[in-house]
Amino acid sequence: MNTLRLDHIGIAVEKIDAALPVWEGVLGLPLHGIEEVAEQKVKTAFMPIGESEIELLETTDPEGPIGKFIAAKGQGVHHLAFRVANIDEALAELKTKGVRLIDETPRYGAGGARIAFIHPKATGGVLVELCERA
Ligand code: ZN
Repeated sequence: MNTLRLDHIGIAVEKIDAALPVWEGVLGLPLHGIEEVAEQKVKTAFMPIGESEIELLETTDPEGPIGKFIAAKGQGVHHLAFRVANIDEALAELKTKGVRLIDETPRYGAGGARIAFIHPKATGGVLVELCERA
């Protein structure tokens, strides 16, 4: 798989507004923008750091994936996202290798990226997102 870099780290927060004083105020990351991804039932805040970003995730629905994650585990690191050159090729390769996937086909994420999640059972408990950006 042609994996290019760590694209972003997704962090589940109860409220983006309440998390910004830490990530922006204490750690000095610039807020690049906030976007709602209706399909995922989340609001995301992107904060670039070098070639990567911190992605704060706030649920817009308690039944959404981030709402369920926080209910079960509390706030904290949710996923690692790796930039791949070609997500269709990456998913085909993973299927060939029998790797368990959450998304068999790519869907659209924040910033117009095409994304897909690998099942954490296939990665030792880490939720991994693959991400292709134009
Ligand atoms: Zn992400």
